This record gives sequence, C-alpha cells and structure tokens, in this order.
Amino acid sequence: MKTITKDEVTHFINGEKVKGKNNKYGYVYSPSTGQQIATVPYASAEEVDETVKSAKQAQKEWASTSLGKRAKVVQRFSELLTQHTEELARLIGKENGKTISDAKGEISRGIESVDLAMGVAQIVKGEHSTNVGGDINAYSIKQPLGVVTCISPFNFPVMVPLAMSTMAVAVGNAMILKPSEKVPQSAIRMSELWKEAGLPDGVWNVVNGDKDTVDAIITHKDVQAISFVGSTKVAEAIYETGTKHHKRVQAFGGGKNHMVIMPDVNLDKAVDAFIGAAYGSASQRCMAISVAMPVGEQTAKAFTEKLKAKVKDLKPGAFDDNNADFGAVISNEAKQNVLKAIDEAVDEGAQVIVDGRKPNVENEDGFYLGATLLGDVTPDMDVYKKEVFGPSREIVAVESLEEAIDAINEHEYGNGVSIFTNSGVAARKFTQEIEVGMVGVNVPIPIPVAYHNFGGWKGSRFGEGQMFGPDTARFFTKVKTVSERWFDDGDMTSTTNFNFPSSD
Ligand code: NAD
Repeated sequence: MKTITKDEVTHFINGEKVKGKNNKYGYVYSPSTGQQIATVPYASAEEVDETVKSAKQAQKEWASTSLGKRAKVVQRFSELLTQHTEELARLIGKENGKTISDAKGEISRGIESVDLAMGVAQIVKGEHSTNVGGDINAYSIKQPLGVVTCISPFNFPVMVPLAMSTMAVAVGNAMILKPSEKVPQSAIRMSELWKEAGLPDGVWNVVNGDKDTVDAIITHKDVQAISFVGSTKVAEAIYETGTKHHKRVQAFGGGKNHMVIMPDVNLDKAVDAFIGAAYGSASQRCMAISVAMPVGEQTAKAFTEKLKAKVKDLKPGAFDDNNADFGAVISNEAKQNVLKAIDEAVDEGAQVIVDGRKPNVENEDGFYLGATLLGDVTPDMDVYKKEVFGPSREIVAVESLEEAIDAINEHEYGNGVSIFTNSGVAARKFTQEIEVGMVGVNVPIPIPVAYHNFGGWKGSRFGEGQMFGPDTARFFTKVKTVSERWFDDGDMTSTTNFNFPSSD
C-alpha cells in the first residue's frame, strides 16, 4: 500500500479527506511543464459502496433541513469560492494548463451557478389547487432523488462541477462527484470549502478514479441519477449503462461548433470574435468555435487573409505567463492527437494556412501546440467530421446561407453555433432552422448565463434535462402529487363508490 505523500490527492468522503485504499493510482501532470505533480488514487467498488452508504445516511437529514438553512450554506459556499478565486485559479492553471485569467473566468461563471442555487426555495416551489373534487385539494411537490452523481471532464475543473452539482445539493440530494482524474485537486479544495460553508458531512463527496470507478458508481443500486459531461463516445456509453440500470441519466458530449460569416458583416469584428472563441483555452472548450464558414468567395478570401495575419501571432505559454494567449493542451496524448488530425487533414487535401505544430516555447517539455489554421477543408473530410480538441481550426467555405445550414444540420454534433451578420432576416432564418442547442447571433461563444438552460442537440447530448439553469433543479428532483381531503369530526356518513373518480 502506498503511503500518502504531500503530492498524493485524496478522496473526500463523509466530510473527510481520505486516502485511497485500492492500491491503484494515476498521475496528474502540469501541462505547462510536462512534469508529474501528483498521484491520484482510483477508488474500488468497495470504496464507492462505503461512500454511497454514508451519503445515503446524510441525505435524509439534509433533505429535511429547512430550505432557508440550505440556501444559507450555499450562500456561504459562494462567498468562500469568491474569497479563494486566486488560489483556485492557480490550482486550475497548474493541473489543467489554462492561463490564470481564463481560469478566473471559469470560476466566476461557476459561481453564477452557485448563486442561482441560493434561490432554491423559489425554484422548488410546488403547485396547489383547492377543491379539485368535493373538499379535496391537490398539490405537487418536488422531492430530491437521494444519492446522485456527477462525472466531470478535465477542461473546466471548477465551472462544470459547480454547474452540474450545486443545484443538486441545494434541492436536497447527496452528491458523489467523480472529477476527471487529470484535474482532481480543485475538486478536493472545493470539498473543503463546502465543509467550511457548513454543509453536513456526507452530503458532498469526491471519489477519484477511472472507468472502473465510474462503472461502480453508475451501476450502484442506491445511486439514483447520473449527470455526465465529457466526450461523446463516453457520454453515449454512460447513457446506455445508466439507463440499463434504471437511472435517470443526462450525458453531455463533445462538439464541433461552426461560425457562419455572412458577406454583410464587419470582417474585423468577425475575425476578432473567431480568434478568442476558437483558440482561447487552447481550443479545449466544448463550445470553442472549430470551423469558420464564410459565405461567398469574396468573404472567404478577405476573412482568410485577415484571420491569417492575426493567428500567426498567437502565442501559447505557461499558465502563469501573462503574455500567453492560451496554455498548453492537457497531455502529450492530446497533443499527439491534434498533430495526427492535422497530418491526416493535409493528406485529405487541406491546406495549412498557419502552422502551429512546432511552437516556439520556453519549456519544451510542456504539452504546447501553436495555433494552426487549415484551409480548403470540405464537409466530407474526416478532420471536419470529428472534434479536434486542441488549437487547430478549419475554414470551410460555402456559397450560401442555405448551404451552411445544411452542412451544420448534417453534422453529428449539435452543441454550439454562431452566425455573424447584419441582416435580421438571415439571423432569423438561421436561428429557426439550425439544429443545434446553443445559438449565437454576433456572439461567438453562446454559453448562457446561469439562469438559462444549457445543452447541445444530436451527438452532443444523450438523455433529457439541461445543465446550468432551472432545468438542473428539474433533473435532480421528482414530482409527487398529493390529493387530500379532511373529514369534519361530526360527519359520520360513509359510502362506497366503485366508479372511477371524477371531478363533477
Ligand atoms: P472524457 O470523456 O475522456 O472524460 C470525462 C469523464 O469521464 C472523466 O471523469 C473520466 O474519468 C471519465 N471517463 C473517461 N473514460 C471513461 C470510460 N470509458 N468510462 C467511464 N468513464 C470514463 O472527456 P475529457 O477528455 O475529460 O473532456 C473533454 C470532452 O468533454 C470534450 O469532448 C468536450 O467537448 C467535452 N465537454 C462537453 C461539455 C458539454 O457541455 N457538452 C462541456 C465540457 C466538456
């Protein structure tokens, strides 16, 4: 058995940091340096079972805690996250590689979801009708599900877990978070903040691990619902296994997000919007723009020239380098995948307009890639069909808005999309006809604020229910409808009626 070292991540179970007992470990790297910075334990089915047991116990009392008290704990958690933003941003930067300013952006977005959950009392209010039949009242209440789980990806170590899980806790569930094994440390730090905020032990748990750990969680008889965010292949598998075990499942997958550039637009504005949305965070965002789709030959030519001039100056760098435009990608494997996708695109006939394959960086051991821009890409190419999760982006020129809409609707993914235009007619046609969950009009990353729902379509989401927004409360509660009547003490009449009850 390994002994716990300074650099060994723990689980967080029943209010305590707990070391792994499974003797199975993974390694956490800092993408900026390529160095291993921690070891992460992978929980066994027995450890998962122990966690579920204590969570089940804690959930009962938490669910019967008053809404006001629960909201206060969430409020305190929000305050602590704000106080510790600098520390959390550094933690994210170290283990994920994104720049500190980008990390702060994700934390502040995550806190918005926490703030929404402060309003839990308003959000879970039920419905009541008086006199639905003779002296009978009917009401519907939303009750928590019990023990639930969230399984999160590496690219937003703080925002996505907060968006997935805070409302689930606020409505009275107990949570088991399984963070990405590549970025486990911020989840443990958030657990400490939950505890400090006054959340009772056992209501919030973090269990680290790999596929075996996930399988143990999602097939456990006492886990009621699964919220998953990650790649499409895994999302689909989680959805299939979870539903086979009669769980409520929502599984958010990958994306291939287009930006359509109409001929009437100010191209400088469109170029600036594309660059931030496409290359920010080393393109490791599910809502990153992957494809520029200029409409018309002239637009394509002018847009490409202007874009090329700016993309070639983009600089990757360490998470704490203030001059870096974006950080390293998450792992050497991720880097090799992007390089392979570029090579294959070239073999298929794509043109490398800007080549970021050999960036000029200080630390050659870090997992760095420069910004690559590919031209002459067509919808039949493999590079267009798949999600490339790193800073290589594509230009696919089309002749009309209709052609753009058809290509986007044909695509496997339907996470985010954007149109840049000055025409209300074009924008309206686009927003009406496009088969994508999150749509932007002159907004390059159409990720909504916390009080709107978020979720992709097609291969970007399996199951129902959205993330962020009020829909999270619906996903993590079940509705119970009660019909009730109270008899007057003095009324002794009694009849038996075999007819189906009617409200006459
Ligand atoms: P991933 O699918 O590799 O991992 C996500 C989670 O699933 C992790 O916790 C991981 O440990 C676990 N996991 C991995 N393989 C598994 C398996 N075979 N069985 C069970 N669990 C498994 O995703 P990632 O690389 O961490 O994240 C990047 C992906 O997430 C991208 O595709 C990105 O588009 C997507 N993403 C989507 C959204 C969205 O809202 N739709 C948001 C963020 C990220």
